[in-house]
Amino acid sequence: MRSFEELLERTNKGFPLPEAILSLDAEEQMIDADDLRESLRDRLRVMRETVEAALAGHWQPKLIADDKDKYPARAGKALCGDLLWRASEIAVALGTCNASMGRIVAAPTAGSCGILPGLLFAWQENKNGVDDIVLNGLIVAAAVGEIIANRATLAGASGGCQAECGAAAAMGAAALCFMEGGDAEACAHAAALALKSILGLACDPVAGLVESPCVKRNGSLVALGAIAADMALAGVRSIIPPDEVVDAMAEVGRSLPATLRETARGGCARTPAGQAMKRKLSASVPAAGAEEYN
Ligand code: SF4
Repeated sequence: MRSFEELLERTNKGFPLPEAILSLDAEEQMIDADDLRESLRDRLRVMRETVEAALAGHWQPKLIADDKDKYPARAGKALCGDLLWRASEIAVALGTCNASMGRIVAAPTAGSCGILPGLLFAWQENKNGVDDIVLNGLIVAAAVGEIIANRATLAGASGGCQAECGAAAAMGAAALCFMEGGDAEACAHAAALALKSILGLACDPVAGLVESPCVKRNGSLVALGAIAADMALAGVRSIIPPDEVVDAMAEVGRSLPATLRETARGGCARTPAGQAMKRKLSASVPAAGAEEYN
């Protein structure tokens, strides 16, 4: 699938959005649509397991703290509301688990693994959503990720963090929009509204580790996914068509300097504090001969 346009054409022929997605993918891959659905059901099951393990675990990344343990104290009084606070907690837990070499489901990448599950499962808890609706949300999110992968990129090294955390927020926005009853057009615009609000986001991991700013970006960009979904559900539309927003993201990614594309040579990685952390880390592992960036 290469475009929202072809997806919307399929839904205009009477297919509900998840069935339109599965049928298009099944035709392209020459496999059965039901097998695709079952494979995504299995992916959702594993994702749920990783969320439970990430929330229950005690993680020790190299640079950052295990901040998920700070969340319960604000539960019930967070300014952003219960659903978003829980989504942020899940996202931070998964990001910290990933930073500690724990098991996660890339969604779409390991660095951005917290945003989509955070939104899916916080929504399910908050709204008492049934599993089949969450599965359909995942199918919608997967279609958004596929379109971004095919028209642009999902790699921070190619397109900056807009391609990882930005794509994850767009996927989460479309999933939330669908689970809240939005139609196919609203879901496409939810994705577009999220993505175009984060064009140009740098990929700048401190010391080259997927820890800072990655984990807290996961914890904060759940908010972008949720507000984009609400805007689309309220009838707000992107005046730039969704496919063109993805094309703009690709163009912005190509324009980003190498320092902002996962080289750990710009942004947060280049700050005095970031450089000091890198030196400390290098000194603690002399045998590893950590690469020096200038
Ligand atoms: S900053 Fe770079 S490594 Fe970290 S999540 Fe974003 S794209 Fe991935």
